[in-house]
Amino acid sequence: MNVTVIDPGATLGVLGGGQLGAMFATAGRRMGYAIAVWDPDPEAPAHRLADYSFTAPFTDLDARKKFVQLVRAVTYEWENVPADLCEQLEREVPVRPSSRVLRVIQDRIEQKTFLRARGLAVPKFSVLASPEELNREAAPAFPLVCKTATSGYDGKGQWKISRAEDCAAVAQELRRTMRPGSRWILEEWLPFEREVSILVVRGADGATRTYPLVENVHEDGILRQTTVPADVPVTVAEQAATMAREAVVALDGLGVFCVELFLMPGGRLLINEIAPRPHNSGHYTLDACTVSQFEQQVRALCGLPLGEVRLLSSAVMLNLIGDDVLLATTSPAAHDLFREPGAVVHLYGKRVTRPKRKMGHISFLAPTSAEALAKASAFRARLLSTRP
Ligand code: ADP
Ligand code: MG
Repeated sequence: MNVTVIDPGATLGVLGGGQLGAMFATAGRRMGYAIAVWDPDPEAPAHRLADYSFTAPFTDLDARKKFVQLVRAVTYEWENVPADLCEQLEREVPVRPSSRVLRVIQDRIEQKTFLRARGLAVPKFSVLASPEELNREAAPAFPLVCKTATSGYDGKGQWKISRAEDCAAVAQELRRTMRPGSRWILEEWLPFEREVSILVVRGADGATRTYPLVENVHEDGILRQTTVPADVPVTVAEQAATMAREAVVALDGLGVFCVELFLMPGGRLLINEIAPRPHNSGHYTLDACTVSQFEQQVRALCGLPLGEVRLLSSAVMLNLIGDDVLLATTSPAAHDLFREPGAVVHLYGKRVTRPKRKMGHISFLAPTSAEALAKASAFRARLLSTRP
């Protein structure tokens, strides 16, 4: 296959300037590229690492013209950037993953319908076009979870429904938060044994690589901790890699993808969701792999050969959420952390701390994942004990 290579020295564009955009910019600059960040929030962390910053609204035509003249290729840091903008940009430069892939992924209904139609297992679901449909669709199985079709993240825009009596309150919430055209997906709430995820990288020539399977722990719908490698039988890890690769190939996706799965008692795997970009559960690759997920994003975008996906060390990644970051940086626990062998601290430089906001993370590297887990748990306990 004939692949156009974008050589170092060129400018790469990224839509979205959060920590994922910042880590992409860091990887791109290390590899000799210039980086243009477009995020309407002037305080977005990636602007600090950008060669060129765009802070106009994503709908600004003048900014779009300037951006597209500057960059040789475009990617994005998360799926809630406007697909229309990506479609406009890709008339002139490559956008990876494409706007077509983005449109499928950014709507939970489209995404799950797509996967199910290709024989990939997903939780049972039904579609709500109005809050009034909730009562009818919810009967008779509980527990359920209702999610907005678009724009949800970190557990936002989700309501658990444990029993029939919860439906009225949830329908009320849907009415309160709805926008024109809102739709929702109603899913069975699964009693999974573990949550796992896996990064798939697909290069411009169609070649794929999969990183090791990791295990995730969420609290309140937000990722708290990732352990690599996941402590599951080899057959489960292989099955997850096969499903993830199949999903990305079916989408014809180019770039980095993270596939989140539920592992059920008995070993069955179901795909929860796919992110068309590097993922929080893949941050361990920054410290525990030769080639990080962000370097792969640069390589795939530029048509370069993909890098190896070798794990150099077991690791646990612990997120610093909300005011965890204050304790982790200013309490005595902070100095313990700097003394801790194998601990790598990443702070995102967000000026405002808010509850449930991801402020940073720590990677704990150790010869085995059990040792890495012990380090992470000891630190977390120390952190919690200093909380006023
Ligand atoms: P987000 O885009 O916010 O990450 P997810 O669909 O991944 O949305 O949901 C966030 C978390 O909520 C999941 O990682 C999981 O812990 C829990 N969750 C979501 N859907 C289900 C489900 N059908 N059954 C059980 N837990 C679920
Ligand atoms: Mg998720």
